[in-house]
Amino acid sequence: MTYVVTDNCIRCKYMDCVEVCPVDCFYEGENMLVINPDECIDCGVCEPECPAEAIKPDTEPGLDSWLQLNTEYSAKWPNVTIKRDPPEDVKERDGEPGKLEKYFSPEPGQGD
Ligand code: SF4
Ligand code: SF4
Repeated sequence: MTYVVTDNCIRCKYMDCVEVCPVDCFYEGENMLVINPDECIDCGVCEPECPAEAIKPDTEPGLDSWLQLNTEYSAKWPNVTIKRDPPEDVKERDGEPGKLEKYFSPEPGQGD
């Protein structure tokens, strides 16, 4: 198993998760992060740290498409281990449904 980043990270991107991961397996897109499933050691430390509750174990049902997205984009985006400030409108975006369809960007983020 692995942990995966899901919809509510998009345009929230609090980045609390990157500072606790012992194996530095978060990768940064323009408006969300993903986990590299091959590097994640399933420690679960990041899950309660995410203010947006966007990190889930892939043993939860219905996360196949998110596992695919995390796998694909962790191979394309830069590694990130240092927390930066979230976007200014983070509170308005937190919990908004359907963010993948509305806002997902395949562009890379800046990384460390
Ligand atoms: S803490 Fe949660 S919302 Fe923030 S970047 Fe990490 S996964 Fe995304
Ligand atoms: S479960 Fe552990 S190893 Fe996997 S992403 Fe979270 S903190 Fe990193």
